[in-house]
Amino acid sequence: MTENICPKCQSDLEWDAGYVCTPCSSRYQKIGYCPDCSVQLEKLQACGAASYFCNSCNELKSKSRVRFEFKVEKAES
Ligand SMILES: [Zn+2]
Ligand SMILES: [Zn+2]
Repeated sequence: MTENICPKCQSDLEWDAGYVCTPCSSRYQKIGYCPDCSVQLEKLQACGAASYFCNSCNELKSKSRVRFEFKVEKAES
């Protein structure tokens, strides 16, 4: 699943040192949540591949099971 869609206007997000929605003039952070306990996961960068660690379950979560949400980082009106 590589679709990065704006939660507000459903446009494709662009990448510019972060996820950017041009129509909304908003920047988004992609946040991963634990599929088991819904806690925000910690993103670990290892060998070029991102993995996600749950501090609550105390284990790595498979990226395919992680639930991703886009959170507004900064709104430019
Ligand atoms: Zn948008
Ligand atoms: Zn967890």
